[in-house]
Amino acid sequence: MDGVGNIMIQLSKRLQTIANYITTGTVVADIGSDHALLPVFLVQSQKCPSAIAGELNTGPFQAAQKQINGANLQDKINARQGSGLDVIEPNEVDCITIAGMGGVLITEILTAGLVKGKLEGVKELVLQPNVGEDAVRNWLVQHQWLIVDESILEEDGKIYEIIHAKRAEDAEEQNALLFSGASITLPYDVEIKQALLFRMGPFLIAKNNPVLVKKWKGELKKLEYIMSSLQQSNLDSAKEKYVHAQQELKVMQEVIHWLSMETL
Ligand code: SAM
Repeated sequence: MDGVGNIMIQLSKRLQTIANYITTGTVVADIGSDHALLPVFLVQSQKCPSAIAGELNTGPFQAAQKQINGANLQDKINARQGSGLDVIEPNEVDCITIAGMGGVLITEILTAGLVKGKLEGVKELVLQPNVGEDAVRNWLVQHQWLIVDESILEEDGKIYEIIHAKRAEDAEEQNALLFSGASITLPYDVEIKQALLFRMGPFLIAKNNPVLVKKWKGELKKLEYIMSSLQQSNLDSAKEKYVHAQQELKVMQEVIHWLSMETL
């Protein structure tokens, strides 16, 4: 219960990890805020003075409104229906969270917002792509957002990655160091090392949490399945794809082995 008798939101491990990254005292916009769980928690726990819950679709938008009203936080959390960053004004928020969407959609939302000036004043991004994490890392690096940390976790049989980025004057230089490839002590060309860092995450590789190895063992299985289908085709394009997949498989096997050895 909070001080006035409202039930406190209990977040999932995934949403709690996102919440932990948010700097205390910041105004947050949670984009794609089905049920507004994160904004309600942030305000209830007094981590954030106020928040915006942005949601495109009517059902989840109504669920967000209901949650905010139920927690009696209408004066501190504003639910707004609209696409992506359209729901905020430039310089209105300090932090944006986008969770539970594909990585490409997250980058499309950020690009559309950037073009409309909606990232003005935003100092911090906490992003949780369900897939396509490499697209998110690429976007951040291309737009000079410094990646400051990453987490990987497993919950209810699913593996999630969370990427925390901040504005920094030296973002370009710091990101260049992060993605230089120096942290991967395998005898690959720098292009292969960089591609691995974008796919797997520079901080996740450095932390080498067992969940990372589990995730990539799962990806390896998916690739083996794709290869077995390609093998049954007589098309030249399938043969070409098979050769490419074979090279990818070899690298993935070696990287998983390397990560497993590093944890010993
Ligand atoms: N962020 C919550 C979480 O992580 O638990 C909800 C994730 S839910 C899977 C994705 C939400 O994003 C849905 O409610 C969907 O309606 C919303 N959504 C999808 N595209 C959107 C967009 N362009 N702008 C705002 N919300 C969007």
